[in-house]
Amino acid sequence: MAAITKKREWVIALQWISGHVNKQADKLAKLGRVENQPVLPLSYGPVKSMISSYCKDRASARHKVQADRNKWESLLQKDKRIPGNLSRAERVACFCLITGHDLLQKHLHRIGIVDSPKCHLCNMGDMDGHHLLTCIDLEDLHQDADQLRGRVKLYWAARGEMA
Ligand SMILES: [Zn+2]
Repeated sequence: MAAITKKREWVIALQWISGHVNKQADKLAKLGRVENQPVLPLSYGPVKSMISSYCKDRASARHKVQADRNKWESLLQKDKRIPGNLSRAERVACFCLITGHDLLQKHLHRIGIVDSPKCHLCNMGDMDGHHLLTCIDLEDLHQDADQLRGRVKLYWAARGEMA
């Protein structure tokens, strides 16, 4: 596409189709229709890059607002993200434990799937990611629990026991 636009000059007309969803966009589109539009000497590549950058910045800002003071806020911080060198199963476990959407008893109880948040293994507490670190039924896996892969092992062991 970039090669084509280098050889020819294209006139690109953007057309807004009004609807009932975004009244502000409709209003701006009508305003733009009656005003003179600047002719900008931009090629496809830079315009694509500008639009892409704008969309990424907006999405990033929206994610920061949505994650503010939530469990998954750390996922937006580069130094606290889930390491990319983990296997898929390890990354899934990390994501589940960080967000709390972990399919352990406490979460399943919160969404109405099971009757009790209690740990099936020890019956001594609500079963969530924190409980796994002290669950006496998983005691043989606690020696590595201070490391990421150790917590992943705990998570999958607990999930295996639940099945
Ligand atoms: Zn337990």
